[in-house]
Amino acid sequence: MALACERSIHALDLHSFDVICVGAGYAGSVVARRLAEEGGRRVLVVELRDHIAGNAYDCLDGAGILIHAYGPHIYHTVNERVHTFLSRFTEWDPYEHRVLADIHGTLMPVPFNHASLKLAFGEEEGERLYRKLVATFGENVKVPIMELRAAEDPDLCRVADYVYENVFLHYTMKQWGQTPDEIDPSVTGRVPVFIGDDDRYFPQATWQGMPKDGYTALFERMLDHGNITVVLGVDARSFLAVEDGRVLVDGRPFAGEVVYSGPLDELFGRDLGALPYRSLRMDFETLPMDRFQPVATVNYTTSEDFTRITEFKNLTGQVKEGVTTIMREYPRAFVPDSGMDAYYAILSPENIALYESYRARVEDVENFSPVGRLAEYRYFDMDGVCASALELADRLLEGAGEGA
Ligand code: FAD
Ligand code: UDP
Repeated sequence: MALACERSIHALDLHSFDVICVGAGYAGSVVARRLAEEGGRRVLVVELRDHIAGNAYDCLDGAGILIHAYGPHIYHTVNERVHTFLSRFTEWDPYEHRVLADIHGTLMPVPFNHASLKLAFGEEEGERLYRKLVATFGENVKVPIMELRAAEDPDLCRVADYVYENVFLHYTMKQWGQTPDEIDPSVTGRVPVFIGDDDRYFPQATWQGMPKDGYTALFERMLDHGNITVVLGVDARSFLAVEDGRVLVDGRPFAGEVVYSGPLDELFGRDLGALPYRSLRMDFETLPMDRFQPVATVNYTTSEDFTRITEFKNLTGQVKEGVTTIMREYPRAFVPDSGMDAYYAILSPENIALYESYRARVEDVENFSPVGRLAEYRYFDMDGVCASALELADRLLEGAGEGA
């Protein structure tokens, strides 16, 4: 990977590149690697921030603890193709994510499961309610809270009300500023009630772990290819525009491909209105102790203004005595042009319609491809973005084959 800095972008002939990837997160980097390697294309990756890896970026903090700068990132997937591709650039340390919810001071497993039920209702009553759940839904099954709430049996209603009120309501109000009934059910469906004993957050994942040397090292290797040039600290909008169905670079039509992983509304100056997002303020704190909490993440579902506390040593397995770093997440509405990061698309029908209006403007632009969590306005996990980027690379590589 050739690394150029902000000043040197002016020294580059942008039109000499076959591909410009906007953003050095999974979306931009996966496509860059495949087009550089399999397509022999000269690829320029332009990144606004002063580092690669997008929101998966990790680094050592002042205390020497490896932190995830944009929130806890746990790699998990059932997608063999994604796993095989990413595993070219890292080995994995085994890690299984477990989360506890602080419910009125008692720590209970989330997803809410057999053990949580007994902690919430007492050993005997919890077991009775569990048997009722098993008789109704079966054992070792996942039931989204919005489905459980539709139950009519008084015992099941009691469980549903408890979980709704103590696990979902306040946390969701903090995270989204809306109740679980008001948001897209797929969002709370990510953390279904589990009728069984498994207490893992991602029980379905075939592969789960932490990149052995961290995420940033994974990206360094992915972008390390002779055909890839990376420029940091540059807003692609300073030279890139889509106008009248054409891609312009420095004001002239661009003959190559543009792979764009930023927000689509930004590209058009938000002239149809700003796409709504949720953002987070992340407060990091380093403490003089070996360990702060029993698991990597504790969700505060009935108290506090923050949603969760993550302790990074518990996530990465890093060993360091007498010091640990934790991070609290304070959700907030995203305000455009305020320096905040747009972290979560808010998936309402109106917002999706607004997104589609922006998307329609680029749909027929042959050499412009939006990809990734921002550009597709999706609630993608890392593996979902990789899958989308791998598919885009397939299409771009096939397209080149047909044209040749
Ligand atoms: P990003 O990582 O956002 O990368 C896009 C890049 O484009 C950014 O670096 C941005 O600076 C750059 N960019 C934007 N506009 C421009 C421009 N105009 N010019 C130049 N550069 C530009 N996923 C999991 O699988 N497991 C998890 O545990 C997990 N935890 C998460 C926790 C939080 C708090 C958040 C917010 C996300 C989490 N994710 C998790 C999701 C994961 O971060 C994303 O799926 C993934 O990083 C998205 O990759 P991307 O390339 O689409 O976007
Ligand atoms: N959620 C909740 N309580 C919890 C965990 C999750 O209410 O203890 C809801 C909340 O609405 C959240 C959604 O489920 O936004 C998805 O949770 P997840 O942990 O997948 O969110 P992420 O890690 O992507 O922020």
